[in-house]
Amino acid sequence: MAHYLDFLKTEVDELKAKSLNWNLRELQGPSMPHAKVDGKDVLMLCSNNYLNLSNHPKIKRAAINAVRTHGAGSGSVRAIAGTMDLHLQLERKIAQFKGSQAALYYQTGFAANAGLIPQLVGEGDLIISDELNHGSIIDGVRLTKAERKVYPHKNMDELRKLLEGAQGKYRRILVITDGVFSMDGDIAPMDKIAHLCREFNAISYVDDAHGDGVLGNGIGIVHHFHLEGKWDIEMGTFSKAFGVVGGYVSGTEALREFAYNKSRTWLLSGSAPPATAAACMASLDVVKNEPRHVKKLWKNTNYWKKGLKRLGFDTGVSETPIVPVMLGDSAIAQKFSVRLMEEGVFALPIVFPMVAKDKARIRTMMNAGLKKGDLDIALEKFEKIGKELGALK
Ligand code: PMP
Repeated sequence: MAHYLDFLKTEVDELKAKSLNWNLRELQGPSMPHAKVDGKDVLMLCSNNYLNLSNHPKIKRAAINAVRTHGAGSGSVRAIAGTMDLHLQLERKIAQFKGSQAALYYQTGFAANAGLIPQLVGEGDLIISDELNHGSIIDGVRLTKAERKVYPHKNMDELRKLLEGAQGKYRRILVITDGVFSMDGDIAPMDKIAHLCREFNAISYVDDAHGDGVLGNGIGIVHHFHLEGKWDIEMGTFSKAFGVVGGYVSGTEALREFAYNKSRTWLLSGSAPPATAAACMASLDVVKNEPRHVKKLWKNTNYWKKGLKRLGFDTGVSETPIVPVMLGDSAIAQKFSVRLMEEGVFALPIVFPMVAKDKARIRTMMNAGLKKGDLDIALEKFEKIGKELGALK
């Protein structure tokens, strides 16, 4: 007889039948360019640890010291008894780093988007969103009663039309975009979006998850476009280039106070452990005081892209260390990734429905800790497998 929990297995079986299920890989040790995954030594080409900071000695030391001085946990949500001096110091440091008035630290970037977006707009308001925005933005948008409109990827004429059509109809308008788009590695036209937002009195909101530590000498996309003071809300994460975990929102003091009084994810969920807050602070210091990491990341990115193109691969529209190797067919992308792993290179396929049916790819992420010799080996493997699977002539 059918059991009421049978759906758990049935639904996963459906995913498996379509090859859309996740098989979790086990990282056995720190996330590094040379890592151990499922017992195998591999070159890591799919972590977001762009600056190779997750195992940086100064950052680890800061975390260890904070455990000694402040313990393992914070004991509460921020609003009750879980705001430690470390959280407040970190928030001042983020604002300083970004050149903004104030910042608020969330447990994750996902929590920042899911907590703040539904408070900024509600009934009688409009959200306008790029069609390729990240899932955490989409979930944040789903939590509002605001009307939603989506513009084709980076299409500024369509954004203008939507803003023109919205004039006088809504209480508030929020325009929201990823800074760096995580599937293709291209960059949002922030200068144009900022301009349109000013013209039509809309609030500008960017998710800089993949620009933090990467663009604008590591300071992020707002700095990259020289938009300090001209962009309303910058959100980002410590889980990628900064090598730790945690989200933030940066802008005015009024934004910070609004965000912490209203974001339910922030108010109702325990605050980050002391080690995390201290590690985030140390990471900001490292990015500021050791510019070699950002430089090396870009050097590797350029070398990697040039190498792939020389072999005949298409790297799509990438402008950042997110480098897709476009293969088209999902089955080839999946086979490619399996073969890469067999050859000691860890890089995952991105297939439908994450991207369009004919846009399957292996998504590679550059890392400042990779050596030229590592990249040469990875290029050799890509060439070998590309030929084997008929993706290269
Ligand atoms: N925004 C974007 C564009 C992301 O790629 C991610 C992480 N996948 C997030 C937000 C969420 O950040 P976090 O890992 O801090 O929750």
